[in-house]
Amino acid sequence: MNTVILHSHDLAIAQKLAAQLKGDLDNRQSHFRIHTKLFPDLEQLRDLYRVDINLLSETFNYSEAALLVSDMDSTLITIESIDEIAKIAGIANKVASITEQAMQGKLDFTSSFKARVSMLKGTKSETLERVYNEHLRLSEGAEELIKFVKTINLKTAVISGGLSYFAKRLQDQLGLDNYRANNVEVADDCLTGNVIGKVIDAHEKAQYIHDLCAQYGFQENQVIAIGDGANDLEMMKITGLSVAYHAKPLLQKNCDVVIKYGGLDTIIDFF
Ligand SMILES: [Mg+2]
Repeated sequence: MNTVILHSHDLAIAQKLAAQLKGDLDNRQSHFRIHTKLFPDLEQLRDLYRVDINLLSETFNYSEAALLVSDMDSTLITIESIDEIAKIAGIANKVASITEQAMQGKLDFTSSFKARVSMLKGTKSETLERVYNEHLRLSEGAEELIKFVKTINLKTAVISGGLSYFAKRLQDQLGLDNYRANNVEVADDCLTGNVIGKVIDAHEKAQYIHDLCAQYGFQENQVIAIGDGANDLEMMKITGLSVAYHAKPLLQKNCDVVIKYGGLDTIIDFF
């Protein structure tokens, strides 16, 4: 028996979908569940009804979930933070094209990151604060999701191939337990264009999951990972539940859960 989750309150859609799947409808208030013997084509159903539809994973044990790890740029927040710095610095187009190629998986992340940071040489460090205060927005449902997972005692972390300045500020704002991101060098209140330490690429994101699991004594299959870009795929392969959030097609194909329409709080429906 499969459990299909319809992340919508719309009773008309729920009834139509239940009939189509020859399943039993279960109203859970925030969403509907449909128990069916069929194996639905979820991608096709999402496109047909224009709502989020997922399967309740049979391999992931929701009651044993222990850690939620989210990517930052375009996942926990709506922007690509380096692109926003570049806009203020007046080099937006140059930097955004490199970011996009990296997100599509067409360019090695580490070299693209270093190239982008070097373009920011001479940018005042207060620009980062300005981006955080004036341009950075949390993704829809981010606060609700974090609040919820804390009530069920999950540890939380943000992992980012972006700048640690933003990850740290998000940790403080949302009360996250952990963060890891890239450090850039500042001298005389300006970015020097240099990166300090290892660049957080796809491999380092996966390594962070291993490190957190070792720190807390968790198994990787107790981890939920959320992301939107190609460099999130490696960490998602080792976690118990992977969530593609308004993500690139490559991720949608490879993740357990796909959110295309709703906010991050859509994840609460699984618990
Ligand atoms: Mg991202």
